[in-house]
Amino acid sequence: MYQVYNNSPFVPRNVMNELVEEKLDHLMHLVDMCCCSECRALVKELAMKELPSMHVTCMSEDVHARFAGMAAQTQANIVTAILHSAETVQKHSQHCPVQK
Ligand SMILES: [Zn+2]
Repeated sequence: MYQVYNNSPFVPRNVMNELVEEKLDHLMHLVDMCCCSECRALVKELAMKELPSMHVTCMSEDVHARFAGMAAQTQANIVTAILHSAETVQKHSQHCPVQK
């Protein structure tokens, strides 16, 4: 985990974290799994472990602009990592059964 220093916008941050956040909810709903905060955190944690870190120092608005043109392959890798992690959590998490 990284720390936030003095709320400065110029803090090195892992953009991968934001890219995963952006796609996480959509993909978890897509695979129709439990979307409670615990499962969500697990899927995110696993996906982040599979993906390389991408640290940048810039303000939030820039992040999206800077990575809007990111390689399709990287975008595909993020989706694959999230889906793979979702599948793992779905298989091993017994704490809350699928709600009917
Ligand atoms: Zn759950």
